[in-house]
Parts: sequence; C-alpha cells; structure tokens
Amino acid sequence: MRPIIPDYLAEVLGEVEPDVSGAPAAYIPELAGADPERLGVALATVDGQVYGVGDVDVPFTIQSISKPFAYALALADRGFAPVLAKVGVEPSGEAFNEISLEHGTGRPLNPMINAGAITTHSLTAAADSGPAERVERVIEGLSAFAGRPLAVDEKVCASELAHAHRNLAIAHMLRSHDVLTQDPAVTVEGYTRQCALLVTTRDLAVMAATLANRGVNPVTGEQVVTEKVVRQVLSVMFSCGMYDAAGDWITQVGIPAKSGVAGGLIGSLPGRIGIATFSPRLDHHGNSVRGVSLFERLSSDMGLHLMGVPPTARAVLRSHHTTGTPPHAVRVLDLQGGIGFAEAERVVREVQNTTPAENRIAIDLTRVHSIDDVARRMILEITRRLTLDGHDVYLVDPETTLPDPDPGDGGHVTVVRETGEAVTAPARDTDGAPS
Ligand code: GLN
Repeated sequence: MRPIIPDYLAEVLGEVEPDVSGAPAAYIPELAGADPERLGVALATVDGQVYGVGDVDVPFTIQSISKPFAYALALADRGFAPVLAKVGVEPSGEAFNEISLEHGTGRPLNPMINAGAITTHSLTAAADSGPAERVERVIEGLSAFAGRPLAVDEKVCASELAHAHRNLAIAHMLRSHDVLTQDPAVTVEGYTRQCALLVTTRDLAVMAATLANRGVNPVTGEQVVTEKVVRQVLSVMFSCGMYDAAGDWITQVGIPAKSGVAGGLIGSLPGRIGIATFSPRLDHHGNSVRGVSLFERLSSDMGLHLMGVPPTARAVLRSHHTTGTPPHAVRVLDLQGGIGFAEAERVVREVQNTTPAENRIAIDLTRVHSIDDVARRMILEITRRLTLDGHDVYLVDPETTLPDPDPGDGGHVTVVRETGEAVTAPARDTDGAPS
C-alpha cells in the first residue's frame, strides 16, 4: 500500500509550490543568499511518529522559532515570577523587531518579539551564570526539545552580528530600564547564537510535538520542561507567535505557532501533533509565505483549528435503561467515550431529570476510555447524592477508568465488573455495609 499521509503531504506541497511571492530575509546577508526554492513539511505525532515530505532534512537556522523554547527554559530555570516581572505576555500587534517597551515599566510586551526574546535569553540558566553558560544552556535545552545535539551556524551568526544594530539598540534600551542587567552587546551575541542554531524541518516538528506532548519529547521520552511551563509557552505562542499577523493567524489557522526569518514555521496542537514547514520567501510580517499557506490548508483539511467545536457531549450517554426484574431491577446509565466537564454535566442532568424509581443504580463505564479530574469528582458526587437519597449505587468499571472511587461523606459505591453483578449483589443495609 502506498503511504497515505506522505502522499497527502506531497499533494499539499505541490499545491503551494508555484507560489514564488515574497523574498528571503535580506537584513541578514547570509540569509539573503539562501536557496528560495526549498520547501518541506513535517508532522510529528505525540507518540513519536514523524512524517516528512520535501526538503525536510535540509539544515537552516532556527531564528525566532528559538524564542518559545528559550522562554520555556527561562521559566524552568528561574521560575514564573522572576520571568514575568521582566517580560510581559501581551500581544504587541507590532513587527518582531519593533523598538517598543511597556509604558512605565520598560518591560518588553512579550517573549516572541525581539525585545522580549533578548531579555528571555538573559534569564536562561542559573542567575549567577555567565554569558557562555547561558548559551550552553540554551543549546543543551533546545537540543533536548529536538532530540539530538544542535550546533550553531557560525557564518549566519557572524553575518547577523555584523548588522545587529537594531537588536543592539533594543538591548541598550532594555539595559537603561534595568530590564536587562547584563552587558547589552554580550547578551545580543548570546541571543544571536541562539537564533543561529541549525535545525531541519524534521527537528522542528519534533520540537513542536514536545510542546504538544506536555513537555515530553515523544521520540526520546525525555521530560524537557513541565506541563505548566508548556501551557504558558503555548498560550503566548497562540496570541503573539505571528507578530502583527497574530489575529489573522488565529482566525484562519487557529494553531499556536512561531515563525523564523530563515523560513521555518512551527505549529503545536496540544495533545495532538507538532507541525513544521520550511520555505525561505517571507511576507511583509517576516512569516514564510508558503509556510502560512501550508498551515492554512493543513488546518482546514485536518480540522486542527483550536476553536473548532469538538464532538458534542450528547454522545456520552449511550443508553439509559432498566435491567433485571423487581425487586432486583437495576437502572443502568451506560456511558461512553471521554468524559470531561461538559459530558459529566450531561450525566448529572440525566440523573436529576429522571429520578430513578429503582433502588439500584449502575453507572456503566465499560465503554468510557477516559475521565478527567473534574468529571471524576462530578460522577462521584452523583453517586454520593444517590446514596443519600437511599439508592444502592454500582460503578461498572472493569478497567478502573475511575480510580479510587471514594464518594466522600455519606456516599457509598460498589465497584463491579459487569452490570449483571449489580442485579445479583446482596442488598446493603442502611449502615452502608452489605447485609
Ligand atoms: N535573529 C533574528 C533577529 O533577531 C530573528 C528574527 C526572526 O526570526 N523573526 O532579528
């Protein structure tokens, strides 16, 4: 059989290929000479399967795509409060290299624009470490996200440093506000080395999938940063990752993302997938033209928009019926699928609207594959209140989908493997012990 997903990706690449609009970044001379025809797309799933089509093994510099990962490292190394005190989380609506800081505090608005990213770089590694250790920490940390050792492209780094007047201006301004406490030129050098790390489209897909996978690299299994850090990073990517195109991006594509001026673009869908594209011609925002088109197409074809409404909660109640004959009749609520708040609410409503006449009630979880924490508490509260109303409550849970089923004060629940056991079980006395 021909491989289905690579065939699909090749078809999408073929569609965007004729678009030669835009131009490679020119303000970094070494990037201006990049082959503009390069084109690649890679997907990495949260269980570590990587699909790639086109130029997915061609190395290029990561540039601004390093920003969310360096932000993750700063949060991990210094904690949330010290980082948030220096770098905000508000979309700027401005270009990536805008010389703008928050009024009054001098804080950069967010870690995705250069001002925020230069500050973020200075917040990586321990507070007492020197510039070389910070660079080392960033390289080691980004390598863990990629799952292989990354190296700096010294030519691109030198080329950018020779023309880094704007970033130096930003750094000096940050220093004047004491947002930056280290030497501005040294910090810009470290940040520029961070941006000059070489990656492939395949690496970027794995890095994005690590964010999608709660901070665990799905290929190496390493927990690179905590889930809490990942949530912060993805949130900021969602609102600020595409600079002054953020609103267009959220509405059209709806995936937390980050672009880089070498032509890379990543998207990360929590719990689902990491995506990366590579095509060096940029639009006037500094985002890859064909990369944006690829993401628009992938998001729409694969239903990846985060604001897309998931399948309705209605389906949680598979059936509601009675089994056995009085006095041993059992009212069965047969549930299915994954249960979160919305699904649990549907179950609560069913129980409240149709007060069961039967003494025995069984909640059948045999076809339920997952229950989140709030849903677990809601289901246990249903069982507690039914007990208080005088019912005998059974949880049919052969695979322990709902662990530790303690309904709390005055509640009692008997766990059984199948509904038949609820019919044949001996009746309980009012003390809560089986009689
Ligand atoms: N190193 C680049 C810069 O600081 C990164 C910019 C980008 O990729 N948008 O200008």
